[in-house]
Amino acid sequence: MISVFDIKEDCCGCTSCQHICPTKAIEMKPDEEGFLYPEINQELCNDCGLCRTVCAFQNGYDISDDFAAPKVYAVKNKHEDVRMASSSGGIFSAISDHILDSDGLVSGVAFDENMNVVHKIAATKEERDEFRGSKYVQSELNHVYSEIKNLLKQNKAVLFTGTPCQNAGLKSFLDLARVKTENLILCDIVCHGTPSPLLWKEHVSFLENKNEGKLLQHSFRWKEAGWRGYNVYAAFDNGKSKLNTADVKSFANIFSSDAALRPSCHYCRYANLKRPSDITIADFWGIEKTMPQFDDNKGISLTLINTAKGQKLFEDIKSKIIYRESNTKDCLQRNLQESSKVSEKREQFWQDYHLRGYEYIVKKYAGYNLKASIKRKVKTALIKMGLQA
Ligand SMILES: Cc1cc2nc3c(=O)[nH]c(=O)nc-3n(C[C@H](O)[C@H](O)[C@H](O)COP(=O)(O)OP(=O)(O)OC[C@H]3O[C@@H](n4cnc5c(N)ncnc54)[C@H](O)[C@@H]3O)c2cc1C
Repeated sequence: MISVFDIKEDCCGCTSCQHICPTKAIEMKPDEEGFLYPEINQELCNDCGLCRTVCAFQNGYDISDDFAAPKVYAVKNKHEDVRMASSSGGIFSAISDHILDSDGLVSGVAFDENMNVVHKIAATKEERDEFRGSKYVQSELNHVYSEIKNLLKQNKAVLFTGTPCQNAGLKSFLDLARVKTENLILCDIVCHGTPSPLLWKEHVSFLENKNEGKLLQHSFRWKEAGWRGYNVYAAFDNGKSKLNTADVKSFANIFSSDAALRPSCHYCRYANLKRPSDITIADFWGIEKTMPQFDDNKGISLTLINTAKGQKLFEDIKSKIIYRESNTKDCLQRNLQESSKVSEKREQFWQDYHLRGYEYIVKKYAGYNLKASIKRKVKTALIKMGLQA
């Protein structure tokens, strides 16, 4: 009897095993924390072992096309409205514009109609716009890997964007399936880790109950209040909208507490400069120290060019961006050096959640209480008055 992994820390949930399985014996099923794991139907399994072979997280990932060191740039999208709608400098939109203008397709992460965080494939800029904005939740990949395989077989150009483990998983799946990847561009983010989709679902219900309306719009990175500091905005179908209030902000606090990340995130293989992609994008944290004249607190994308394919794409989009050359020393944030540490509170956090529910954990772990709420209101007022960044 075969299993895809021995311990949960060894499975990042990328779905490569599900899609490579020749007998379709693998389904992704949620565990008690809401993270999806592959489950093998032993009656359908023919013991071929491809599910283990394809696993880039356990077996290592392909860096054969990587430069010895990435080329590093600080980037702003030339269009101010695009930059304001993006999490950092809007590099994703510049790259994806180019692919869509060349009749290609773009895969990225959107909210669905129930605010679940899902990977989709866009053929138009309107569809692509939904991918703007970081959603700090592990996305559901569904059948995107197989759809990309079919598109590549039809000689379509495809840009895939996602976490490093999702990029490495896709490449490993396509290589083992012997699909040519010259028309595929891989773009990963520098990743702090991905929180539980189950808790996100709970958060959406919590917000909708508190605010007596359906959540229509959500941003973890509301730029009108500045780029730094994770400003969270939510709007409801009853006309209510909120910025950085204790209820709205609580999920971002759970994210940064590191108590609800996928277990494998704490053993991330990709938290370094050897990237499993052609281009890596991120927030250029610390830019105010190294390039103060370039920083305007409206967002700057750290852009790592990892391969010749990535370099060619960067040359093609230079007219759409404003950029400065940087280096691997000035861009080194924590998750380019090591994975996020497991919170000491993780076990207690999940016990509390299972015994007492979501509202209890946001009060205990995520600042959903009166004192924190007053502090946050004062901070938001100061930001609005321009007295604090
Ligand atoms: C879970 C998560 C953790 C991150 N951790 C860090 C970090 O530690 N340090 C850092 O500098 N940057 C981090 N980022 C990346 C950063 O927030 C921006 O996405 C990046 O700077 C791109 O900026 P942009 O202006 O081009 O993006 P935008 O135009 O806002 O585009 C967002 C891009 O992120 C992708 N995306 C959105 N949500 C998800 C998701 N849930 N899973 C996978 N991909 C997603 C979209 O497909 C799109 O490609 C993280 C992003 C996510 C989603």
